[in-house]
Amino acid sequence: MTTFETTLCTGCRTCELACSYHHTGVFQPSKSSIEITGSPKEGFKLVLFEAPHDNRAACDGCRGLEEPLCIRFCPAVARSELQEYIGGPLEPHPV
Ligand code: SF4
Ligand code: SF4
Repeated sequence: MTTFETTLCTGCRTCELACSYHHTGVFQPSKSSIEITGSPKEGFKLVLFEAPHDNRAACDGCRGLEEPLCIRFCPAVARSELQEYIGGPLEPHPV
């Protein structure tokens, strides 16, 4: 488990939904490999689980997909931070 600082994340948690869908086919953030902690006042942090933890699956980098789902569906400029931390290509944002 690694915690990353972020100055760009807005705390929308779309990445948690996207990741849980990748692993389970349903939107269940508690199964996500990524967790957003913090608050608008304190700022947000990205927690990435590289190994299974409780009900959470390990991040597999969305192997086999053109772009990791957490990055693809992040609506904020935090996409660039996710790409830096997780890796994988950064495609143009879907519209
Ligand atoms: S790259 Fe990792 S954290 Fe991001 S959606 Fe895929 S499995 Fe989840
Ligand atoms: S990283 Fe992106 S998708 Fe995840 S909570 Fe922050 S702004 Fe939302």
